[in-house]
Amino acid sequence: MGLEEKLPNGVLLASVEKLVNWTRKSSLWPATFGLACCAIEMMTSGGPRYDLARFGMEVFRASPRQADLMIVAGRVSNKMAPVLRQIYDQMPEPRWVIAMGVCASSGGMFNNYAIVQGVDHVVPVDMYLPGCPPRPEMLIDAILKLHAKIMDEPLGDTRKALQLESGYRTPMIPSSERFAKK
Ligand code: SF4
Repeated sequence: MGLEEKLPNGVLLASVEKLVNWTRKSSLWPATFGLACCAIEMMTSGGPRYDLARFGMEVFRASPRQADLMIVAGRVSNKMAPVLRQIYDQMPEPRWVIAMGVCASSGGMFNNYAIVQGVDHVVPVDMYLPGCPPRPEMLIDAILKLHAKIMDEPLGDTRKALQLESGYRTPMIPSSERFAKK
């Protein structure tokens, strides 16, 4: 079933915002960046069994200048934090960050002087993914939630102000609805 079957007259109407966001979410390129055990699960997600390629993102980029998604897979040591920040700064806008696993999200069980207690002390985080380690399915779920967030990103300051004013919130994807309070 191709696009032409959905559009028998060959006409598609959409806002520029939706089209831009659709192209952005359909071509996320992650930076090659693994810090600890969670990175093994991240690498597995790129393999044939989990097939990140279906989201157009199987190519993990060796250069941050060609990446727009940073998956922080593992604990961040204080020594590594400035390096992580430098890689983030070298990524072009717009860029997104997933904190993968409890260590990246909050320091996890490493409540000590050597580990950053949450990578959001170093870079802004768009999606927190719990678990130790989160399985590839969980990472894919976080990526789908990030897709939903990207699809709703306002284009420009005026649209952003309007969205804030209206109190609009991104609708939940089905896997979140299951756990939402009724
Ligand atoms: S969350 Fe668990 S698997 Fe991931 S880096 Fe921390 S200890 Fe390793």
